Amino acid sequence: MIFCNGDNRNIGFLVSCFLNNSLDIISKAVKGSPERKKAIRVVQRVHERIANKRYDFIHQLSRLLVDDYSFIAFEDLNIKNMLQNHRLAKSISDAAWNMLISAIKYKAESASSLVVLVNPANTSKMCSRCGLLVEKTLSDRTHKCNSCGLVLDRDHNAAINILRLGLQSVGIETVEAHVL
Ligand SMILES: [Zn+2]
Repeated sequence: MIFCNGDNRNIGFLVSCFLNNSLDIISKAVKGSPERKKAIRVVQRVHERIANKRYDFIHQLSRLLVDDYSFIAFEDLNIKNMLQNHRLAKSISDAAWNMLISAIKYKAESASSLVVLVNPANTSKMCSRCGLLVEKTLSDRTHKCNSCGLVLDRDHNAAINILRLGLQSVGIETVEAHVL
C-alpha cells in the first residue's frame, strides 16, 4: 500500500512520494506479485506524465520564442558541462535543456529566426558594462561591479553577455552591451 500525506504539500512532493514508495515496493515485493505489478504501473505512469508535461512545455516555449524573437542566443550547455560540471552527473534538466534547444532550432528553420549557441565561460562573472570579472557564488543573485558601479540581477547580467557573444558570433559588435 502506498501512503502519502498530501496536507500542506505541493504536487511535486506528492509525485516524488508516490514514486519513491512504488520503487520501494518494486525492490521488496515478490517478483510477479500483483502488488509489484501495480507499483511498476505507477512508476511507468509517473514517468509518462513527467515526459508529456516536459514535451508540452518545451513545445510551447520554443514556439513562443521563435514567434517573438528573430535572434536567439543560448549558452552551449555541453561546453558548460565540460568546463564547469565535469564532476557532476548529467542531470535530467540537461536533457530537457537539450530538447528545448533542438525544438527551437527546428522551429527556427521554418521561421526567420536565427539561433546561436555561445561559449558559457564567464558569462555569469563578467560585468556586462565594463567587462570586469566579478567572482560570485551560486547564492549571489545580484551582480555588483566595483569598477563601473553596475548593479543588476545576476541572470540579467549574464543574459546581456550571452546576447553580446551571440551577436559577435554573427559579426555584430556592440560597444556597450548594457544598452541592448
Ligand atoms: Zn563593471
